Amino acid sequence: MNNTDGKTGVLGLIGKPVEHTLSPIIQNMLAEEYDRNVIYVPFLVERDLPTAIRGAYELNIMGLNVTVPYKRDVIPLVCEIDSLAEKIGAVNTLVRTEKGYKGYNTDMLGLLRDLNVHQVGIKGEHVILVGAGGVARAVAVMCAENGAASIRIMNRTVERATAVADEVRNFGYTCELTACGLTDVDVIPDRKHLVFQCTNIGMYPNCGEVAIEDPNFYEKIHTGYDLIYRPAETGFMQLVSAHGGRAINGLGMLLYQGIIAFELWNDLQIADESAAKIAAVIGVE
Ligand code: NAP
Repeated sequence: MNNTDGKTGVLGLIGKPVEHTLSPIIQNMLAEEYDRNVIYVPFLVERDLPTAIRGAYELNIMGLNVTVPYKRDVIPLVCEIDSLAEKIGAVNTLVRTEKGYKGYNTDMLGLLRDLNVHQVGIKGEHVILVGAGGVARAVAVMCAENGAASIRIMNRTVERATAVADEVRNFGYTCELTACGLTDVDVIPDRKHLVFQCTNIGMYPNCGEVAIEDPNFYEKIHTGYDLIYRPAETGFMQLVSAHGGRAINGLGMLLYQGIIAFELWNDLQIADESAAKIAAVIGVE
């Protein structure tokens, strides 16, 4: 990072807030590992996203990650959008082109890659999503796209879960899509499911809190993936493990969304050994 010169390319993150991000650690380590003359910095965008994007382009910024609250708002500001990102309705990575920035969703590509690393498949799976926010909607599209047999969306606000199920169904996927409340554990068939915990319940400092307390729910899980990564073991993960399931946290998803963004910006493929080196530094298990 101290070797910047006239040719150093700038990459960055835009969002509000941006102070707690791990992305600069991931990106700057990758730059060093692959001997790229680039630097990655966080940019706090307080108010005016369109001006920030125009300014970034004029400043020759090579690429940007986009975080909360701008993943949806940035869509009208890109010149082109990847088809998966379009269906998901959220963009977290901008890649510079001659006409403007092209938008991608590397959050879901990163989740998919992390599942792959853990040898967790989606095809033919009965999937449950806990939560129906922006990320849950994205996970629903990703699971439908990758051949899940069924997807059940459980949420505190049932109407929101129903709306997500309807939207995803309207894309024409063949998988069965259903919605219910967080207490409707009895309506879930007695088979083992792949479950994604997509609410912010249990996130530091509220460690140990869970969206669903009913122990019967945890009996129906073979693998529980919590998109939260701080703490490393959430209350949801503890309950999944206590009932004999396999529990994974969301740090690998964060790592791989960054790795895929770096690959897009630099037009290269990150080797598994390099990914493992960074995983060890940021604490991926
Ligand atoms: P969001 O749009 O705000 O949705 C929040 C979800 O949590 C909604 O389903 C909401 O239910 C539910 N919820 C919130 N408080 C609740 C409570 N007290 N009781 C019951 N349900 C509650 O958030 P998001 O953008 O989808 O993000 C969700 C999670 O994904 C966050 O924890 C975030 O850290 C994580 N994430 C991880 C990564 C990664 O790389 N690992 C990347 C992105 C996001 P209602 O609809 O009823 O309000």
